[in-house]
Amino acid sequence: MTTTAPATRTSSSAVAGARRFAGTVSPSSSTLTPLDATEIHLTDGFWAEKQALNADVVLRHCEDWMERIGWTGNFDRAAAGLGDPGTPWEHSGIEFVDSEVYKLLEGMAWELGREREPALQARYDALVDRVAAAQEDDGYLHTSFGRAWQRPRWSDLEWGHELYSMGHLLQAVVAAERTGASPRLVEVGRRLAEHLWSVFGPEGRVAICGHPEVEVALAELGRALDEPRWVELARLFVERRGHGLLGQIEYGSEYFQDDVPVRDADVLRGHAVRALYLAAGALDVAVETRDDELADAVRRQWEATVAARTYVTGGMGSHHQDEAFGADHELPPDRAYSETCAGIASTMLSWRLLLADGDARYADLIERTLLNVVLASPREDGRAFFYTNTLHQRTEGVEPDEDELNARALSSLRAPWFEVSCCPTNVARTLASVEQYFATRTADGVQLHQYGSYDVDTVLDDGTPVALSVTSGYPLDGRVAVTWRGDVDREVELALRVPSWADGSAVTVALPGEEAGEAQGPTIVVRRRFSAGDVVVLDLPTTAEWVRPDARIDAVRGQVAVQRGPLVLALESTDLPSGTVNDVLVDTTVDPVTTPAGARVELSRSRTPAGGWPYGRSTATADPLGSVELVPYATWGNRGPSTMRVWLPVDDLEA
Ligand SMILES: [Zn+2]
Repeated sequence: MTTTAPATRTSSSAVAGARRFAGTVSPSSSTLTPLDATEIHLTDGFWAEKQALNADVVLRHCEDWMERIGWTGNFDRAAAGLGDPGTPWEHSGIEFVDSEVYKLLEGMAWELGREREPALQARYDALVDRVAAAQEDDGYLHTSFGRAWQRPRWSDLEWGHELYSMGHLLQAVVAAERTGASPRLVEVGRRLAEHLWSVFGPEGRVAICGHPEVEVALAELGRALDEPRWVELARLFVERRGHGLLGQIEYGSEYFQDDVPVRDADVLRGHAVRALYLAAGALDVAVETRDDELADAVRRQWEATVAARTYVTGGMGSHHQDEAFGADHELPPDRAYSETCAGIASTMLSWRLLLADGDARYADLIERTLLNVVLASPREDGRAFFYTNTLHQRTEGVEPDEDELNARALSSLRAPWFEVSCCPTNVARTLASVEQYFATRTADGVQLHQYGSYDVDTVLDDGTPVALSVTSGYPLDGRVAVTWRGDVDREVELALRVPSWADGSAVTVALPGEEAGEAQGPTIVVRRRFSAGDVVVLDLPTTAEWVRPDARIDAVRGQVAVQRGPLVLALESTDLPSGTVNDVLVDTTVDPVTTPAGARVELSRSRTPAGGWPYGRSTATADPLGSVELVPYATWGNRGPSTMRVWLPVDDLEA
């Protein structure tokens, strides 16, 4: 178990003598060791701006919305009614809105771990107090169940989300414990975990929650509090799933992964967020219990899912009706569900696999998903979000009412808040801790997995300090400079990931005092005795390239996408002289031209056959549109209502 101590109530900037504390994931053993949360800091540029937007706007936005519509007030009403559980009060929102308050608390705690800003600490403490006041004497804490006028506790495991909500509370507790942000919330978590152990532990009820989440939370709580029982409870929940414990529902038991035991399954299936949270929790359990068979099952499921059930953006989930993975290669762009939370859950899973195995492909998917799914969700002002992330918007959206709740799958334009609002708070907690995905260490050195501008100040197992600064205009500019800020008194390794999108491109690396030379992926390892001022420069060509789909992805056969470095690009009608993206054709005989923020391609517009019947022997002809700009997919929809597409039909109508 981890031996890290909570931080003191001071700023935890990376200065000598600062207290160290673990981040979101801290396995007891791994190939790569995550840096402590205090050992990596975004400095400026792209990612620092995203994190600042989160701290300054998104956290407050979530807090204000939940206050205004009474979701936070549920805790006050529950606390007031503790002595009289028989008198009804009005519960605001659907039954699992507690979880959104918890994700906000988690995001706030990671921010406080970075900088103990008094105003944020006061807001956080006030929120913790309101949550803590609603906890019942036996440790149970949920505002939607168990009162005389509500449904009984644990009476709706299929849909009630009780354990799911509590899982998010326990993840907030992990953040509170590791950052030292709130001993009070940690105590709430201890009492809740004891309660869950008595109800669902080895002597308790053999049951699971319809929405996995408590597994990944309990495993990390066990690590954070050095309490093996919470890992054991996570293990029990993982092992019980797949045996039909949950009742039959219209989508089948695959919907909540209760169809096949985790260790026997070959691919992720059913509701995408549920499947991904479960896989992340199963891997944590496998790591802590040295269960190689279970870990292999998760690896196998990741492989099969990435090979046939993942969008070019990294998005997962192609069914709107059940928010589920489709069959292999069923990846329709205009019906992509690709929930923001699924992108976050996929990143959580890939990070755990990366720590366990050190395989750069996991970091590749994290990069693709963070830049093209997770960052697609927040509007550029941080006050509205995509819940689903379609790859083809056929109709112009209607601007959502900025003061009203929105339906979840309204993907035409970002909305300020949803009736089911899992995504905004998930974005908030992810951006508050995003730099933790960027680098790791081993006994021999450090590994840089994601690029941007950040400082690493860590200490290897033998006490060797490593201090370096990474600077890059990533993701638009692929030049990455790594500057050593101190002498190292022995040979150490610096490992740099070469993203898979750079395969076959002219990747170069320049070592201190040497000319740049060609380099090959997936990882460049530089081993030497570095001195202060040494600079290693990796140059990744972020020129725009065509991307072609596997022919089995029928929905986009005969179409191409354009990727510029790690960024998937999109055509938005805002950039067309007139009209829609729905009838464009692209000329692939002319290569895309890289531009400062995207790329330009040669387009034409198809002329539909006369007569109104869209099928026939003859093919349509095309009118040239000329060279048109494509923008990073994650930025679409920021300029008002538009149509948009990632995949462009190839102009071969006469072929
Ligand atoms: Zn969501």
